[in-house]
Amino acid sequence: MKNIAVIGAGTMGNGIAHTFAQFDYKVNLIDLSETSLEKGMATVTKNLDRMVAKEKISEADKTRTLGNISTFTKLEEGVKGANLIVEAATENLDLKLKIFRDLDKFCPAETILASNTSSISITQIASATSRPEKVIGMHFMNPVPIMKLVEIIKGYSTSEETFKTVEELSKKLSKVPVEVNDYPGFVANRILMPMINEAVETLYNGVAGVKEIDTVMMLGMAHPMGPLALADFIGLDVCLSILNVMYDGFKNPKYAPCPLLVNMVMAGKLGAKSGEGFYDYSQNRKAETISSQFKK
Ligand code: NAD
Repeated sequence: MKNIAVIGAGTMGNGIAHTFAQFDYKVNLIDLSETSLEKGMATVTKNLDRMVAKEKISEADKTRTLGNISTFTKLEEGVKGANLIVEAATENLDLKLKIFRDLDKFCPAETILASNTSSISITQIASATSRPEKVIGMHFMNPVPIMKLVEIIKGYSTSEETFKTVEELSKKLSKVPVEVNDYPGFVANRILMPMINEAVETLYNGVAGVKEIDTVMMLGMAHPMGPLALADFIGLDVCLSILNVMYDGFKNPKYAPCPLLVNMVMAGKLGAKSGEGFYDYSQNRKAETISSQFKK
């Protein structure tokens, strides 16, 4: 397995492409527009520069890594010759079903189709294909080149052979794979998202401000990042859609997204990627934005 296609050059897709390329896989990175691809490749270059500056890799490693990535705007061309596809497009069920339907058409029967979805059912995604035994969840963590964990999600029909192949491959990327079954939110988000939602609810109820909530969790629980800063980093739209998947999937009100989170997403305040969320990122620094509004 040497040729990988990654669909989506956003937050996760460019990190996944970077990681495979750094371990000498040939990567075809696919997105809808040249602009998205250029933005994705600029992020890969910036992250490689940071690694060179920290002496984690050499300048030659950087050049080799970038040389291993090719970019495409057409799915059919980008997936040609790939042994494994990792889909990291926007978290939207209909979009993923369409992509997997197309992948099933364009890729030979032996190609493994993986999704980096945070919460959507792998079993449902697999149902859009004629090869559900070859469909699997490969859930990398953000930022991909740094975080060790890969949650590997077995759909209802995923074969043991597909699981073993993806498990081995994750180890070759120097990651630690963890086997998980296919239920809403899997493990990581089933535990993380209720905590983030509760932090938003705590702010919404006026118990404390943004910085105070994050400080309690960082200094009191030894979390490297507070839950509100983490939500901004993940993307508030992504957090909301994961909570909705769990709320719908379990029919349990404990997963209902906080109205403040819903409002912020509707207002386009999506966190770091939109320049504002719980913090303001516009001046190239992180400052609180809305905490005073909710303080009593
Ligand atoms: P993002 O919005 O940063 O990037 C998504 C990219 O997909 C965009 O560049 C978009 O143009 C592209 N895209 C949309 N439709 C496409 C199509 N038909 N073909 C090709 N490209 C298409 O999103 P993200 O945060 O990178 O999330 C991607 C996936 O990874 C989602 O399923 C998300 O749940 C999952 N995920 C996200 C995180 C996180 O921290 N952001 C962590 C783990 C998993």
